[in-house]
Amino acid sequence: MGVIVQKFGGTSVADPQKIHNVAKAVIREKENGNDVVVVVSAMGHTTDHLIKLAKEVTSQPDSREMDMLLSTGEQVSIALLAMAIQAQGYKAVSMNGQQVGIVTECIHSRARIVDIKTEKLQKKISEGNIIVVAGFQGVTPDGEITTLGRGGSDTSAVAIAAALKADRCDIYTDVEGVYATDPRIVPNVQKAETISYEEMLELARVGANVLHPRSVETAKQFNVPLRVRSSFKLDNLGTLIIGVDNMEIYKPVAGVAADSSQIRILLSELPDIPGTAAKVFGSLAKNNISVDMIIQSLASNGTNSIAFTIDADDFDGALKVLDEVKAELKAGEVLIDKDIAKVSIVGAGMVDRPGIAADMFRSLADNNINIKMISTSEIKISCLVEKENAKNAIKALCKEFELESTESADVKGDLPDV
Ligand code: ASP
Ligand code: MG
Repeated sequence: MGVIVQKFGGTSVADPQKIHNVAKAVIREKENGNDVVVVVSAMGHTTDHLIKLAKEVTSQPDSREMDMLLSTGEQVSIALLAMAIQAQGYKAVSMNGQQVGIVTECIHSRARIVDIKTEKLQKKISEGNIIVVAGFQGVTPDGEITTLGRGGSDTSAVAIAAALKADRCDIYTDVEGVYATDPRIVPNVQKAETISYEEMLELARVGANVLHPRSVETAKQFNVPLRVRSSFKLDNLGTLIIGVDNMEIYKPVAGVAADSSQIRILLSELPDIPGTAAKVFGSLAKNNISVDMIIQSLASNGTNSIAFTIDADDFDGALKVLDEVKAELKAGEVLIDKDIAKVSIVGAGMVDRPGIAADMFRSLADNNINIKMISTSEIKISCLVEKENAKNAIKALCKEFELESTESADVKGDLPDV
């Protein structure tokens, strides 16, 4: 007999009928002889509605009160799911973050979990209950309610699985597993049987929107085997996410993703002296602005230009900072390019395998796609392209790295925007 943690997202519990279906999936796991803890999100678009409501009351809602408000969404779904399980003749008990003892830092709206006290949870499990836990929320040591950031229920589930040393954490979702890219762009894209934590993290960072990145970090840290699987096809095993050491890797590239939320900025005619880059990026960092890709190049007149990308949300703040930097360094111009997308290939199999970057560049060139910037890490290569070319780039790269299959992906419900 094992311990299984399951997680169901908002679309899986969007109405009473769906809640009954989730109850069936939970009971099925219990009937397999396992102890089951099930973590749920708020019903449907509840969290979005609550945020909208707050914004209608005030344009700048207090973050403590936001957590108080948003945490109610999950409290509704856990009570209803516990009732649905009980209605099918099984013992179930719902618990909110505080009742479980999910202790977080004292930061509202994006708190990290620091500890999970499992005594109460263990006691309820040993009494034969299925435990239904509110995702996305925790409590500070002072008893203040916190939330973990949008999509945080995945992280709640993995953290509970780690604390209970569960045999597996199953994340049930609208899709059948982790696809090599967004199936709305490449309908016949392959689904991965297994993928490593490292690849999953890189894919999440470069724009694939399957799991909350912190959930994968936690799974990696505590070695929790994680499955992404369909809440509509319970017999399908989906995709297993495990440590790279436990995997056989046949392919250099596991996935392709695009991120259209960045802006490119170019600072021209910077003095070619020590401390220039430190000044530019130090000033941005002081203002909490993260930078992603960076290129510095030397012009023929002996000055430097530096191009880099930032998140579009940080644009206004960055412009202010850069105007000051420009004046201080007597630089040339600040040029802005908003029509960009970062297209990345990710794969643990590209380590020690030369030629993957060249294959990527050639495939883009064959499709007449110009590359504006390039950056690489051990298991990732990213190219900045025109926004309008992003989808074609993804299609081309899926073909190039043999990530297509003969079947179309079965996608239900709402997928996040590309
Ligand atoms: N309900 C929260 C959200 O919509 C948490 C989650 O669904 O994971 O972001
Ligand atoms: Mg989610």
